[in-house]
Amino acid sequence: MKTYAFAATSADEPLAPFSFDRRDPRANDVVIEILYCGVCHSDLHTARNDWGWTNYPIIVGHEIVGRVINVGSDVTRHAIGDHVAVGTMVDSCQRCDQCRKGEEQLCREGNTQTFAGADRITGAPTWGGYAKNIVVREEFVLRVPTGLDLAKAGPLLCAGATTYSPLRTWNIGPGSRVGVIGMGGLGHMAIKLASAMGAVVTVMSRTSEKEADATELGADAFLLSSDPEAMKAAASSFDLIIDTVPAKHDLDPYTTLLDVDGTLCIVGQIGPLGDMNSIPLLLGRRRVAGSAIAGITQTQEMLDFCARKNILPEVEMIRMDQINEAFERLEKSDVRYRFVIDMASLNQPEQTPAG
Ligand code: NAP
Ligand code: ZN
Repeated sequence: MKTYAFAATSADEPLAPFSFDRRDPRANDVVIEILYCGVCHSDLHTARNDWGWTNYPIIVGHEIVGRVINVGSDVTRHAIGDHVAVGTMVDSCQRCDQCRKGEEQLCREGNTQTFAGADRITGAPTWGGYAKNIVVREEFVLRVPTGLDLAKAGPLLCAGATTYSPLRTWNIGPGSRVGVIGMGGLGHMAIKLASAMGAVVTVMSRTSEKEADATELGADAFLLSSDPEAMKAAASSFDLIIDTVPAKHDLDPYTTLLDVDGTLCIVGQIGPLGDMNSIPLLLGRRRVAGSAIAGITQTQEMLDFCARKNILPEVEMIRMDQINEAFERLEKSDVRYRFVIDMASLNQPEQTPAG
């Protein structure tokens, strides 16, 4: 089916209007009109080819909220008119041990990403959410619980799921001491989620600019990561630290902040890290771990948790044609705290004013 979007055509060109063919729905597919799409730092990394695996043209976006406009004949979980969401995955093998456990993100064959993936049947590239619609097999379509503001819910699908998952993996609950490195899209969700679970939350940020916001979002303490004395004073005081930094950086300043058996969970940097001395790990039985997004069951659990606890991201709404400016601001950490594109602003390319 013919549709339209904003696409990147090379690493250094701005995103621009783009027409393309979305695959036709199969019997087990849901067709979704996209109403809102969050802007994740992974969208920016991919559009700019920071990871070296981008094929152009590419349509990014994996924090998708929309309305069902059609369903295949075998679909039982969703109906026309439902408000639904799609995150970072649109398929997986559905047969391996991990998929059977509901951990599709760990699929032994590799999950199919919402963008920059390959359709498991045709091999054609998957196109993401900076578009008018999307076609997704029903198992990968989430329910948006009533009560969640549709315009703000998008960032839960990646930023929310990615930070909720390690909080659950490491059994965070009342009294747990949680640190969050980097207060951006993922970081600000980690604060809200950990705080709603009853944890004592400390934000670690490079400047004190976000301190007042951190407190407002539910953080109990603020640690200036550029202040060596403050970092020293915080030694051995965390059970879990979630590291959302989107670039290569040294881990040594953070491993020593963990208490015995504490875990530093990397979710931000996807690629090489900087220095790490093993001594703090050995002497404190501390761990460094990683975590990627969340399975579908856990993503739904997170959405339901957010609806129950009234948790929503802090968002700046933008029009589709403001995406290039938004990318520039995201690169400078100048966003409070997630951009969301209002897809009503995406016009057919013929109708888009030149430039
Ligand atoms: P973001 O909104 O840009 O937030 C990142 C935050 O990290 C910034 O606000 C900033 O916080 C801090 N920061 C930025 N550059 C830094 C640097 N060079 N050194 C130290 N700190 C820096 O990005 P995001 O959308 O939260 O995404 C963060 C990373 O997670 C990205 O790399 C993204 O690709 C990755 N990601 C991973 C998964 C996964 O499954 N594991 C899922 C989604 C995204 P302060 O100003 O407070 O220091
Ligand atoms: Zn993302």
